[in-house]
Amino acid sequence: MRDEIRSLLRDLPSMDELLQKRWTGRFQEILGREAVRSTFADVIGEVRRDLIKGRINSIDPGHIESEARSRLEKYSRKSLRRVINATGVVVHTNLGRSCLGAGVLENVMQASGCYSNLEYDLEEGLRGHRNSHVEWLLTSITGADSALVVNNNAGAVLLCLAALGRDREVIVSRGELVEIGGSFRIPDIMEFSGALMKEVGTTNRTHLSDYLNALSPATGMILKVHPSNFRVVGFQAEAAREDLASLAREKDLIFMEDLGSGVVVDLGAWGLQGEPTVRQCIESGVDIVTFSGDKLLGGPQIGVVVGRSQILDRIRKFPLLRALRVDKMTLAAFESTLRLYLEKKTDEIPTLRMISQPLKELERKARTLASGIRRSAGLRAKAVATHDAVGGGAFPATDLDGFGVEVEPPEGVTDGSLLESLRKSPVPVVASARDGKVIFHVRTMLEGDNKDVIEVLKNLAGQEGSHDQEN
Ligand SMILES: *Cc1c(COP(=O)(O)O)cnc(C)c1O
Repeated sequence: MRDEIRSLLRDLPSMDELLQKRWTGRFQEILGREAVRSTFADVIGEVRRDLIKGRINSIDPGHIESEARSRLEKYSRKSLRRVINATGVVVHTNLGRSCLGAGVLENVMQASGCYSNLEYDLEEGLRGHRNSHVEWLLTSITGADSALVVNNNAGAVLLCLAALGRDREVIVSRGELVEIGGSFRIPDIMEFSGALMKEVGTTNRTHLSDYLNALSPATGMILKVHPSNFRVVGFQAEAAREDLASLAREKDLIFMEDLGSGVVVDLGAWGLQGEPTVRQCIESGVDIVTFSGDKLLGGPQIGVVVGRSQILDRIRKFPLLRALRVDKMTLAAFESTLRLYLEKKTDEIPTLRMISQPLKELERKARTLASGIRRSAGLRAKAVATHDAVGGGAFPATDLDGFGVEVEPPEGVTDGSLLESLRKSPVPVVASARDGKVIFHVRTMLEGDNKDVIEVLKNLAGQEGSHDQEN
């Protein structure tokens, strides 16, 4: 047996042999000879391990070449690319959450293509602070006394707990010990911060008295956490924000809320109720509120802490802040996004525009796309009603009524393989499937996406036959 493997291993092609293959020339030119060599070495190493482990019992030289070739193709392409989001999930974390508008992008270009006053006070000619560019905007928009920003909301929560709750007991409801996804779990973050988690209540019901009974001389904070993608319905209770705020004030504790999505304008007009705005939390007496910049706010990835000045001053002195600082491109994008709120131009924020699109308009968009697909790609396509979602952990129980285009895969193609081809096309398209058909939700498709979707489908369908029919 071992001899057999040894003799098989002798059949592995030599590196010199592989590097002589004509097709590798192009890759040696664009990626360098060393990169091609190490790609072959990776594939050969895997084949060798598979042989030894008995997962395969012969060597296919064709496989080694084709596998290496497909990896080299991948390395030759830009990795982080534009993708068409046809899922109808507006704040889609895997697809980059919020898109930035043209005006915001222009400011990012300006701030990053040249020097800036990032940390320079132009009036005094002295060192300034990078956070100063957004502080006033954040306090104006949220009504808080003070504000600071860090890398993301997970960082903001960790920073606050470490700076304010280290070695102190932090009371939190068992109904709010959630996992957000991407391995952000409240109990883990608390442990890592050095705060001592004091759980109270039950999964479905926690009362003010539970917090009261948990108080001890070691208590430092009360933490409230937005349950994000998770809802308890039915026999459910939680303590009111105002009551927790008065309890905290009375006992000289810090009341912190991790709001997650950070809604800064009332979305009630679009049927989205039940999420408090940051301003409402501050008005209810929460001492510090943390939230994300790239969820419902519609800006870049950033984490915001707003609240009482005295408390934020303590955080500003905490050394972890330096490790979480925000880059200038992000600050430029965030400042411009916040200015759009100030100027009441929220329709220039793609995330909010997508959420607030009237159903009639979505239907019109879907009909236009459907007829384009029928005409140019010759596939059966029709406009259908869809359920879209806000995403990003906000309004998990609220569907957004939307519209999409239902496309029948060409003869002999399954919905799954059509979805795969769409993902792998030159402009990748992420769509969904229902009853064997592929659905393109138009809510999350940007201007210009229609043309690319039609082009991709046209290529996939091979332009055979036409089913142009009225819909
Ligand atoms: C999304 C979310 C986070 C994490 O925010 P990031 O900006 O992804 O770091 C933390 N807490 C809650 C409640 C969230 O919804």
